[in-house]
Amino acid sequence: MDKQSLFVQVANLEERIGELYVELGALKQKIVELLEENQRLLRENEFLSESLKAGGNPDIGVGMGNLKRIYDEGFHICSMRYGSLRTEGECLFCLSFINR
Ligand SMILES: [Zn+2]
Repeated sequence: MDKQSLFVQVANLEERIGELYVELGALKQKIVELLEENQRLLRENEFLSESLKAGGNPDIGVGMGNLKRIYDEGFHICSMRYGSLRTEGECLFCLSFINR
């Protein structure tokens, strides 16, 4: 058995494990951010649902402000694709909803 080659293989493996460890840490951080974002969106959705049920709620201006902010953060607020990420820039359906 070539001991030198074995050592190089182990060293390479160690390096790859190190890179994977860094990548795993970044993914874990991303999961935390997504969970927080999800929680925030759930709360906003709950608030908006309650506002809609109440009908003519004086807080509707606040609700529209929240929707505008969600849109500005890159999510659809139109009924077609509500809550999904806007990957193709501006959405005319969302904008017409905001400008209504
Ligand atoms: Zn949209």
